[in-house]
Formats: sequence, structure tokens, C-alpha cells
Amino acid sequence: MQPHSPDPGLIQDLVDANRILAHQGIVDAFGHVSARHDRDPSRFLMSRSLAPSLVTAADILEYAVNSGEALATEPPRLYLERYIHSEIYKARPDVMAVVHSHSPAVLPFTVARGLRLRPVCHMSGFLGGAGHDGPPVFEIREHAGDASDLLIHSRVLGAALATSLGAAPVVLMRGHGCTIVAESVRVAIYRSVYTELNAKLLQQALMLGPLDTIATLTPGEADATRITNEGQVERPWNLWKQMAYGTGA
Ligand code: MN
Repeated sequence: MQPHSPDPGLIQDLVDANRILAHQGIVDAFGHVSARHDRDPSRFLMSRSLAPSLVTAADILEYAVNSGEALATEPPRLYLERYIHSEIYKARPDVMAVVHSHSPAVLPFTVARGLRLRPVCHMSGFLGGAGHDGPPVFEIREHAGDASDLLIHSRVLGAALATSLGAAPVVLMRGHGCTIVAESVRVAIYRSVYTELNAKLLQQALMLGPLDTIATLTPGEADATRITNEGQVERPWNLWKQMAYGTGA
């Protein structure tokens, strides 16, 4: 093994993360997940441009945080929106994994102005907490005008998205999807699955009454449930992995 080779276990987690996100319906042909390199924080790991359910260990490339480009001399085709990952790793030294998706139940909350995606379920406390009012919404028109393709295909747009994310774990992207960060790949996957589920639940609750009649988690409940649940992400991770590979029951 080279001195700066990433941990093979991290590569495997990244491959599994791709499969889980696809199996859980968080990504389809589009969307991507990355991990910061465990031995070199100026690098991150992500697949070449490929539908997530097709990603294998051989497809994982190293990228430079500074440029967002792959380190290989003649890299294959790369994800157009790789700058989401590079600029967030640059802005947030605490972040070790990033998921970008077009999570379908989340999308309505990116376009419903004045309606924040607040946590309504104890599994989704990370969406709120002290000092939070639900995930911020990134409006690309403020940075790319009103005729862009909505994609984050430059370092400048990636930096603008990272600024909008701030210290939060989730940023919604108007008319596009969301980006979710965490201190590990497994927590990033957990948050991705439960952001989608929380969005579904809140949509269902909104059919029963307006937002001001819905009991969302208090900041204290959000913080407390986040700490409890994120201490046991191994349980859903192992289940989702088994389901994604179609083994076992
Ligand atoms: Mn996208």
C-alpha cells in the first residue's frame, strides 16, 4: 500500500453508500456521494461519472479539494457538479462525507417559498436544533442569473453553495435537490434517507392542516434526538447494505 493510499474500508463504504442511496430511492441515474481522504485532508474520493448503483471500487478516483479536479493524468469523464464536494470540503474542515441528490420528496420544499423543511419525526432531529430554522435554501438565480441550467458546475457556484450551507448539515437547492454533509459516510447516508422520509411525512401532515398547526420538533428535541440516533447508525447501515445487495432475507 502506498503511504497516502486511502483505507480500503473507506473505499468499500463509499461503494456501499452508492448502492444504498440508489436502493433507497435517494438517487437515480444522477446524484453522487464522496468521502474526504482519511490520510490526506486536501483530497477527497468519489466515483467517475457513473450512475451510483453501477459504482465499484475501481471507479473511485482521488480529487483535489483545492481545484475539484481528479488527480489522474488522463481522468475519465467526471461528474459535472464535483465542485459541490470540493468547495464544501474547503469551507468545512469538519465534513468527512458529502451526498448530493435530487431526493424526490425534498424537491417540493426547495420551491415552496416561505415553507421551511422542519423536523417532524424523531429520526430527523438533525434537520433542526438550537440556532436552526430548518435547512437553508440555495437560490442559484442570485449567483448565476435567471437562465442557468441550475447545476453547480464551477468552483464559484460551489463556493456560493457552501456559503449557503454554512454550519448546517443540509442545504436545499431550489428546483434541483439537496446536499447533505456529515462527519462520516455512514452518518451522511443516514441523514440522506431520513431527510427524504421527513419530507414525505411533512407533506402528509400538511394535507391535514397548515404548517402553523403542525407540531414540529423543538430545537431542544431536535438536538437530543440527533445525538441519540446518530450514535447508532450502524444498525440501519447494516440493514440498508444487506437490502441494497439483495442478500439475506
Ligand atoms: Mn444535481
